[in-house]
Formats: sequence, C-alpha cells, structure tokens
Amino acid sequence: MPDSYLHTQKHAARPDWNLIEKKWRNIWDEQKIFESDPDSTKHKYLVTVAYPYPNSPQHIGHGRTYTLADAHARYKRMRGNNVLFPMGFHYTGTPILAMSRRLVSGDIDLYNTFRNVYGVPSEVIESFNEPVNIARFFHQEIKEGMKEMGFSIDWRREFTTIDEAFSKFIAWQFNLLKKKGLIIQGSHPVGWCPRDQNPVSQHDTLGDIEPIFIEYTLVKFHLNDTYVLPVATLRPETVYGVTNLWVNPHVKYVVARVLEGNEPMWIISHDAVLKLKHQGHNVDINHEIDGTKLVGQYVRNPITQNSLPIYPASFVDPKDGSGLVMSVPAHAPYDYQALLDFTNGNSSKEMHNHEIVKPITIIESEGYEGDNVVPSQIIIERLGVEDQHDPLLEKATSELYSHEFYKGRLKENTGKYAGMMVSEAKDLIRSELLQNGIGEILYEFVKKPVKCRCGEECVVKVLSDQWFLKYSEAQWKDLAHECINRMDIVPDEIRSEFNYVVDWLKERACARKSGLGTRLPWDQDWIIESLSDSVIYTAYYIISRYIHFDDDNNIPAQNLTESLFDYVFLGEGSSKRISEETTLSEELICNMRTEFTYFYPVDTRHSGRDLVPNHLTFFVFNHVAIFDRAYWPRQIVVNGSVLMDGKKMSKSFGNIIPLRQAVREHSADTIRVAMLSSAELLQDADFSFEALKGIRSRLDDIYQMGIHLSISDNIQKSLKQLYHSQGVTESEDKWILSMMQRRIRDATELMDRLRVREVLHTILYSMEQDLQWYKKRIRSKGRFDLLVNTILSMFLETRIKLIAPFAPFLASEVWNSIVGDAAKIKEDLDWPGVVEEYTDPATEESEDLIKNLIQDIQNILKVTKMKPTCVNIYTSAKWKWKVYQRILELIIANRNSSLSDVMRALGENSEISLARSDVKLVKKIMEDVLSIPAERRSLKLNIKNLDEMMAIEDAASLISSELGDQNLEIFVFSEDEEKAKKNDPQSKARSSRPFKPAIYLI
Ligand SMILES: [Zn+2]
Repeated sequence: MPDSYLHTQKHAARPDWNLIEKKWRNIWDEQKIFESDPDSTKHKYLVTVAYPYPNSPQHIGHGRTYTLADAHARYKRMRGNNVLFPMGFHYTGTPILAMSRRLVSGDIDLYNTFRNVYGVPSEVIESFNEPVNIARFFHQEIKEGMKEMGFSIDWRREFTTIDEAFSKFIAWQFNLLKKKGLIIQGSHPVGWCPRDQNPVSQHDTLGDIEPIFIEYTLVKFHLNDTYVLPVATLRPETVYGVTNLWVNPHVKYVVARVLEGNEPMWIISHDAVLKLKHQGHNVDINHEIDGTKLVGQYVRNPITQNSLPIYPASFVDPKDGSGLVMSVPAHAPYDYQALLDFTNGNSSKEMHNHEIVKPITIIESEGYEGDNVVPSQIIIERLGVEDQHDPLLEKATSELYSHEFYKGRLKENTGKYAGMMVSEAKDLIRSELLQNGIGEILYEFVKKPVKCRCGEECVVKVLSDQWFLKYSEAQWKDLAHECINRMDIVPDEIRSEFNYVVDWLKERACARKSGLGTRLPWDQDWIIESLSDSVIYTAYYIISRYIHFDDDNNIPAQNLTESLFDYVFLGEGSSKRISEETTLSEELICNMRTEFTYFYPVDTRHSGRDLVPNHLTFFVFNHVAIFDRAYWPRQIVVNGSVLMDGKKMSKSFGNIIPLRQAVREHSADTIRVAMLSSAELLQDADFSFEALKGIRSRLDDIYQMGIHLSISDNIQKSLKQLYHSQGVTESEDKWILSMMQRRIRDATELMDRLRVREVLHTILYSMEQDLQWYKKRIRSKGRFDLLVNTILSMFLETRIKLIAPFAPFLASEVWNSIVGDAAKIKEDLDWPGVVEEYTDPATEESEDLIKNLIQDIQNILKVTKMKPTCVNIYTSAKWKWKVYQRILELIIANRNSSLSDVMRALGENSEISLARSDVKLVKKIMEDVLSIPAERRSLKLNIKNLDEMMAIEDAASLISSELGDQNLEIFVFSEDEEKAKKNDPQSKARSSRPFKPAIYLI
C-alpha cells in the first residue's frame, strides 16, 4: 500500500490542467481569498504593478512582470501578511485613438493583426471605429488572461482611467500640484509628432523609445557680411580652436531668412529648416545653393575674428545640426583624423589643392601639456585609430571630451577665459554667445530617428502655451533623491540609474490636445497625458472599492470633492464637514481614511526595466510632492524583458504568442515557472517551447508523487503519530529531514531578495536530487515502511509549499489531495519555516561521505578496468581527526595560514605532534580544508568526530548496487584497529584522511 509510490512511476495519465485550473479559480473566487480588508492583527503588504494599456491582448512578453508580482504577493501572503494586490486599466492617451483611425481608414495590416494574430471576431473589429470599444474589448481579454494565469488580484478595486470618479481624483492631483507651483505654463521643448500634432513620450513611439533630446549651441560664422553659416556644437568653448568649416559638396543647401532685423540670411540644410521651424523660428527660404559653391570660401570666426576656410567633406550629414560642421582638430579627434586623411590623399579628390590648416590647441590638461601638443593627435595615436571610419574614434572622442571637461584648463589664446577650467567656462561662453546674438539654441534627439507609432518621424518642438510638470525644480529633485536613496531597489545595481534620471529630467509636457483621459481642471482644452495620470493611482486602489461598489451603490462622481480627497489622502479637514458637503456618511468617509492609512504606502512596485526613465521615476516624483514621508513607496522591483527563442517578440517576426493561448496549450503553472526560472531579474528571459516541455514534465512528476501518496490520505494523522513515537534513527531519514531545512532556509533567503530563478532551481533541481538520493538509500535497504511514507509526504508537503507562489494550481491540487481540505487552503498552505531540531549537519556530512566514496571507487574502476569481488575501505585513525580539527581551527582563524604556521601549531599539542613526521598528510589535509566553502568550515568544526565506519556500513548495500554488483562485498576497517593491519596488504590505511577513507579493491 504505502510503497505504491516507489513502484509505480510515471504510469498515470497526464492530468488535464485546464480543468484543474478552472476548478481552483472557482474555489479561490468563492472563498474570496484575494480580497483584502484592513486587519490590525496582521502586517499589511501592498503589491502593485504597472497597470496594462488595453490596446492588444497580453502576450508572453507582458506576462513576466505580472507573474513576478503575483509570485511576490503569494509569497508574502504565505508568510502571514495581509497582502493587497489590486489592478486597474490604463485607457488614457492617443495610441488607442490612432488605432481606431487606422482601422477606419482601411489599414489591412492592422485588421489582419486583430483578426488573425489576436483572434478578434470581425463583428467586434467593426465596433472599433469607436476608440473606447478597443479599450473595453482588450480590457476584458486581459482581465480573463490574468485570471487564467492565476494572479491573486483583489478585483473589487478595479477601475479604468477614464471612469468619471477617477477623473475627479486626477483633477484633485493636478490642482494640488499646481497650487504647489509644480505645474507651469511656458515655452519648453518636447518630442513631437508632426502628423498627430501631439507631444510624444515612450508610449507613443515605435519600439517604445524614450525621446531624449539635448541642447546644442548654434555658433554663427559670417561669410562676407552677406551670409551667416550657423554650426551646431555641444562644446561652445572650442570656438576658439576652430580652424575651418566642413560642408558637404553633394548636398543642396538653402539660403533663408531666419531672424527678423539686420541679420544676414542663413545658409543651412533643408532638414535644419524644418527643425528651426518647429523650434520657434520663422524661416523663409529664398533660394537653394550647391554645397560645392561654398567650398573654398572663407568665413569669419565671430569670437576670434580669424578668417577660416570652408573645406569639402562627404561625412557631413545634412540631417545633423545645421548641415555644416565646425572643425576643431586639436580637441575633436574626428576633425583631426579627417584632416589627416585628406593630407594622406585618402580624399584628395575632394581636397583639390586646398592648403592644410594647422590645429589650434586651446585646452591644456594632465597628460596633454606642452607647447606643440595636440590632444587629438595623442589620443588617436594611443588608441591606434586607422581612418575616419574607424569606430575607435567614438571612444577617442568621448574619452577626450570628458577628460577635458573635468580636468582641462583654457590656454592663454582664449582671451578673458584663459586659465579657467573648461567645466566652468563652458556655460559662460555659451551665455556670452547667446546674449550677443552670436549663438542660438538648437535641440536634437540623442538617438535618431525617433518614430511615432503612426509612422511619422518625430521632431523636437518648442511649445509656447503648453502645460509642464516642473521636474527641473531643485527642491523637488532633492526629495526624489531622498526617496530613492532610502527605498529598497531590486536589484540594487539599478539605483544609480534612477538617480541619474532624476537629475536629467527637465520640464515635461503633461497635457495633450487629443486622446482619452481627464481634462486639465483649469483649462478644459487640454487632456492630461498618459504618463502624468498614472503616477499616484496606487493610492486610488485603496478607496476604489467604496467608490465603484456596484452599479447601484457607486458614489456619484460629483460627491467626490477635493476636500474629500484632502481628508482621505492627506488627513486634512474634518470628516463631519465633508460629510455635510458631500452627503456621504461620516462613517464611509472615515472608513476610506482608515483603509488608506492601513494599506498605504506601496510596499513594492513591479515594472519592466524600460519604465525606469519615465513612469517609475515620475511615480517617485509625484509621491514625494503629494504625500508625507510615511506614505512614500518602499520598494521598486525592475525586471528584464522576454525573448522568444533568443529573438525580441514582435509582430514582424511573427513570434507573438497571446498569453491566453499559451495557457491553454501549456498550462498556467508551466508558463509562470518558465518566465521566472530562465533568467536573473534584470536579464532578458529567453522563452522556448523546448524549455516549456522540460518544466511541464518536472511539474508533472511532482503531481504524480502527490497522487500516489494521496492513497494514504486517511492515515496521515496516524502516520505522523507513528513518526513522533518511533523517532528517527536511520541516517537517510535524518539526512533528508535536514536537507529539507536547508532548502527551506535557502529558498526563504533568496525569495526575500526576489532571486526567483535560484529559488526555482532549488525547488525543481536541488530538491529533486535530494529525493532521488533518498529513494536510492531506502530501496537499497529494502525499506518501505510507514515512516518512509510519512517522510516522503513531509518532503512533498514542503516542496509543494515552496513552489506554491510560482505554481499555485499544482500546489493547491496536490496539497489538497495529500494533506488538507480545500476550505482551509488559505490558512494551511503557508510558507514552511525551518525546524531547527531536524537540522543535522553531521548526517549531511556522512551522506556526502558516501556519495564521494562511491564516486572515488567508480573512478578507480574506470581507470583500472577491474572487476573486484570485494572492496576494503579504511577510515582514518582518531589522531588524524584531531589534526584535522586543529587545521580547521587555524584556517578558520586565518585562511592564509602557511604550512609552517600549521606545523608549529601541531607541535604545541603532544597528542597530534606525531603528524609533523608526515608533511604530505598535513599538506593534503590543508588542501581538503581549503577546498570547503568558507561558510561550511565552522559547521564541520562542530561535527568533531564523524563515525565514518558506521555511516559506510549503513550504506554498504547501496555502495554495492551503485557499483553495479549486488554481490560485491564491502568491508570497513578503522585504521586504529589491529584487524585493519591484517587486511591491508598495500598499507592503504596510512593514506586515509578524515572525510576521505582509503580504498583497496580485491
Ligand atoms: Zn504620430
């Protein structure tokens, strides 16, 4: 009966997971186990994850972040916390609008994606001409998928960002920020789609690129007082070192009037005209001019008044800056190399017979000093740059740039700036240029091109009447840094990235003219954009169940006044007065406040890594602006994305697999485990169907074990009594109990740091090895007693509990069948604690000894090709154990102890001084000890004297069978015994060491 599990392996049919999942979803629903209300007897834990944008069904790539958050929530719940895991849906923004428009205009690609990839019925697609129907449809689709994945969400708190009540909350947030002076109207640059006539952020761009731009200075060089040739630079201080300009002879430039007044016409590229127009300039094109016409002309440096030649260069890109480049060969390695290539004749055709200019050095810095030193030349020669196409030039440029910025000093040929540090002079020179009309500002994207989801190439636009969040405000930045620095960030290596973004952020456009969302409360023409209304909604979850109660009992939006929100979220005002004002009961108002103070702050926020430069940082900024320190978020967890067979998932690769389909085909638990076990947190997880199969079969093995052990369901209690009355004497029983504690301890520590890949490795692989070893041991002893079955049940119970956060359906099913009833699953399926009395390092060591011994003998057999009839094993003498202990002590005290240190110490004790005559032995023992991981050394020290003889005799039958011969005789002798000497023709016993018995095969 109880041995049935050991004899029947892998016979049973594969379970129907879809059916089992459905059953458990219903039970969880009926028991409302994910609905969390305040409970003062328990620690609360608020888990949130960036809510989805419902413009498509979720695919496998979306699932990772949510699955990790859910495993985290389930783990915390199993540890006894009152966990709240809510979810909402983010309708705000323009992408849904754009999709609807594309469908209406007959976009076949989009239609086919909806129809064939997402499986949307055609009559439903027809309803998508109304944008909100797209959101509603995919909202339900995503929600079903989340349920099918087993996410432990409290659905009572669900809302969408276009609900009227939520808009009230957002209006409150914006009025508050405006009162604090953190929302301003003004002229600031934004990323912009010229077709949509809207600012763009990461959500609006193809490939989800954050449109980051930087400020260039346009320096205006004059040509004969008739034209201005503006040149863009990030290093305005180098204007003193310009030797020439570069122009592309194959490009058509334009002559245009750019500024009012006396300013001569500008010569710039066509692309530059567009940029300037978007950035607040009126540009009137007069006529075109060939680049070749400019070659050979001379311009005047506006600062030094030097006359400089214009040289031809095909590397000048008309899309960069103004389409003209100033050449500072002494400090810009690209310019130096270009000049060099020309003189070497590489581009002689372009150079005609131009005289070659000499570099002008204007900056001196450590390593680049002296009269005739040209820094670019030095660094180019040091790095071994070959020509102007060599990628090493990029490295040379950034290295020299930052070296000169931090350590460089301007030389005497820079007028009033002579002697000043570059870092200091840079801004002064820039201001001088701007103030005197010699310079203008030009914004450029750092990485080009940035494309809008509509396909249009984005530009940087200076908006004049736009509303901005003033992320540039220094005090606001300080608070954001404070929050980030005291918060737990997982993994911690990403903390500096957050601090960098806080420093880098400037004014950010927070409203649009179109799209879904909430109108700016003081200016109804504007709609608050999607990355600005999604920063403190985590607070709204706490009270949303009161507001969206059910269709009959919702709180009408007009009753949600600003003073109500002030009271609930900020603790300001009186509940009595607010009750009068809103006609809501005072009790309800107080309940909302109590619930907020109970569940807030956010204990953990999960998100993908791509949201660090925007959403996650805005989340921090807005919390510190609005809430007291006590309600600032406590943790952010960031994870990498998911690849499919090593490739990024995308429609164009055709490798998008909708999550619900994957669950139907492979089961939710398999998908969950696969997502979390294949990569470290920040790495991209590589998903493959091959890996899925492996995981499925591991999980099925656990299931089978549960099904077979469940035969003993009714006698569980008596088995446990038996176990307690009888005690544990067999080594393998003590060993597996101890190993269970070790696995629990490891899994708990790892889980606390969300190192889920390693946790799953422990549960699926390390515990499997433990189980296999245990099974070998009991089989070889012919044990199939009740105690064995009890221990196997305990092992299974432990494993099931450890895997429950990751594979909740499997865990519920197996747990229910072996130990419990479904009604008590919430209380009883808890996270296991370490039982100290089962921890038994000595037994762990003795089982290791057996494993190593078998390995050693197998190695000998392999080398000698012997077929022995008998194995003699010699365990070491007692005095060697004392030597071992002493060396262990010495190395624990000082891991660099030398042989002579050890020899001296051994001499101090007469019992072990004998060892000094055997240097080889002492050396070997030292090696043994050093090869033990440091944390295990003190454990070994506590063991003192392992009874190796008993351990080996206990495992003798296993050793024979592992060596492939049941009849092989195993004899064990202690080196101390007389008997050993008679049975040791080759004096092997002498070489035995603690944990390393000697072997003789006959
Ligand atoms: Zn667009």
